[in-house]
Amino acid sequence: MITCMVSGIAKGRFLERGRWLAAYSDQIYVVCPRCGGRAVVIPRPGLPELRYYSQLLFRPRRLACPQCGITKEWEAQRRGAYRVGVALGGSTEPFFGRPLWLQVPCCGHTLWAFNERHLDVLQAFVAAGLRERGGYASTTAMIPRLPVWMKRASHRADVLRAIGRLRDQVRRSAPEDRPEAAYERPGEHKSRAYPGLGLRRGPGLQLRQLLTAPSWLARILSVFPNGPF
Ligand SMILES: [Zn+2]
Repeated sequence: MITCMVSGIAKGRFLERGRWLAAYSDQIYVVCPRCGGRAVVIPRPGLPELRYYSQLLFRPRRLACPQCGITKEWEAQRRGAYRVGVALGGSTEPFFGRPLWLQVPCCGHTLWAFNERHLDVLQAFVAAGLRERGGYASTTAMIPRLPVWMKRASHRADVLRAIGRLRDQVRRSAPEDRPEAAYERPGEHKSRAYPGLGLRRGPGLQLRQLLTAPSWLARILSVFPNGPF
């Protein structure tokens, strides 16, 4: 059972619970590298049950396209005893480097999402008249890290319209439905990895590793008060 907090949504009120972007990364729609249709990037099937969302940054991944049948596999690089995870964020998916299928120009920027659940929480946040933080001051949570332009009341109608367009887009899958914004951006993301975050195959981080962990680990730990590992 995953023990991360979720965002609460009720009657125009959005309660921020500190959910991390990784929590939405279990299903990522991308542009197929072969046919240009809608492919999906998911954790490789058959792995042990997910315990923490942070594991989604390291788990072997599979890209599969129902349109042309291509499949590709991804595994985290290893540095000694560690695995190196990906950095999520931006309009390019970080495992295979594919453009996100769900992206659209909006307010001079690009609005993007991984999947429908991601769109749901973005829409709830943007549409809410009252936005509250649930006492979680995490700097890695998804909602606090949204760009300022998405949070402006003056952009609310435009952003909600763009989210509506992405909802239409998620139902399309043919190569001719590829969004104009979804083009390759070589070198945009790639591996701004988390050196040392990779876990040993054992039951958890060793004390020595925690004592020498850099500040990014402290930020991640702050997302999981009960401990992500
Ligand atoms: Zn394809």
